[in-house]
Amino acid sequence: MTEGELCAICGVSMAEGTIDRHHLVPNAKGGKETARVHRVCRRFIHATFTNNELRDLYSTVERLKRHAEVEAFANWVSKELRRNPRFEGSSKESHRRRSAR
Ligand SMILES: [Zn+2]
Repeated sequence: MTEGELCAICGVSMAEGTIDRHHLVPNAKGGKETARVHRVCRRFIHATFTNNELRDLYSTVERLKRHAEVEAFANWVSKELRRNPRFEGSSKESHRRRSAR
């Protein structure tokens, strides 16, 4: 397997079709700069933080990765993605905030 581009969040190489662009400052808040990440990683970020939090507190990859929940997610998802490069997430990451909505 050829090494592809690495995900800015979990650090695992990204298979074609799994790559998404994460706006470091949300699109809706006028952000232009993007980081290339797995779709599953981007979904997690948006399930975990509001657009205001992303704009005000987590507008760099370094800040995102320093957050304990992101760190835990990256640890977990990097293992899943090494097993299955097309991993798209599971109930583990999608059920977390459902009750809070
Ligand atoms: Zn990733």
